[in-house]
Amino acid sequence: MQKIICRELFTGNEFIEDAFVVFEDRIIDLGRGRGEQYSCDTTEVGFVMPGFVDSHTHAVFAGSRERELEMKLEGKRYMEILKAGYGINRTVEDTKRESDDEILRESEARIERAIEHGTTTMEVKTGYGITMEQELRLLGIIEKLKRRLEDRIDIIPTFLAHIKPYEGYTDELIEHMDAVAGRAEFFDVFMEAFGYDDTERLLRKAKSLGFGLKLHTDEFSDCGGVALARRLGCVSVDHLIRSPVDSFKSVEAQPVPCLLPATSFSSFEPYARGAEIAALGAPVALATDMNPNCWCESMGFVADLACYCMRMKPMDVLKGMTLNGARALSLKDRGQIAKGAMADIVITTAKNHADFFSKFGTKKVERLIKKGKVVI
Ligand SMILES: [Zn+2]
Repeated sequence: MQKIICRELFTGNEFIEDAFVVFEDRIIDLGRGRGEQYSCDTTEVGFVMPGFVDSHTHAVFAGSRERELEMKLEGKRYMEILKAGYGINRTVEDTKRESDDEILRESEARIERAIEHGTTTMEVKTGYGITMEQELRLLGIIEKLKRRLEDRIDIIPTFLAHIKPYEGYTDELIEHMDAVAGRAEFFDVFMEAFGYDDTERLLRKAKSLGFGLKLHTDEFSDCGGVALARRLGCVSVDHLIRSPVDSFKSVEAQPVPCLLPATSFSSFEPYARGAEIAALGAPVALATDMNPNCWCESMGFVADLACYCMRMKPMDVLKGMTLNGARALSLKDRGQIAKGAMADIVITTAKNHADFFSKFGTKKVERLIKKGKVVI
């Protein structure tokens, strides 16, 4: 059993000043004060919060796309870069050519750096295969990473229908989808590549096979994805740069809006209206979208962007990277410091939550605890 005494604790729901947390692999107790009834190894620190849950990444791929920066600076947009033979097609080619071992090595290094930045649970999507065979190969690599890194981070696999290389690809995916069932937790579709009807067909089939559903939507235009996601019972709906804020007004059960400010930052695009969506009471999640076009390994950087560029309040940002990130993955046992929750804990470099946000571009994580064990 171990105890942390801290100047401020964020539990996932509230701030507690002068608090203690006692844990083994799960949280045993927490509260105000020094927890004097528990005599065990004790550490005294500043601001403590749950381990970060990065609920949207494309962390498994080969190569890099730094050459696109000049094009982006010239004002070229995602679709133009794609048409010029760069973009996702470049990564698909690089990934196809590379060996499994090398993709594993590059992806593992990225995930290790995300751990250094405080991530204790990470969703990882396939999506750079673009044939069923290649996507299954990438899913196999994600499964290997999950096993290799299980003491340091939990990896949640998602199968992503990313681009439609030719007419008929949707039918192939539907025909062979049962090969993925039971291997990926979620099925996700990039709606702007597949269009409304094919997206709906894919998600309906995935639902019938027992997948949780996710949806990439409204990144470049409002394409009605939020209403579709609600109708089909998606767990999360992601990107939402062009979504009308009103879409999140409904009080009925709704998908978790997952916002990806680093994507806007890296592509010089507007930011999703995170502050307004959170103000409606929607459980906004925040994630890195780690991919070759948005090479962000740090949830701390995402937190700073959400606060300074989306004007989200610190409480909403911190919830977005912990509790609501877990909700976006249907995980009830983490993203919070609560009795019985997994002991995934970040000891930050900050004195309190305001201090956490007042410094940016700095190291935010002093120590990281995964399932009760110190990992950094
Ligand atoms: Zn994405």
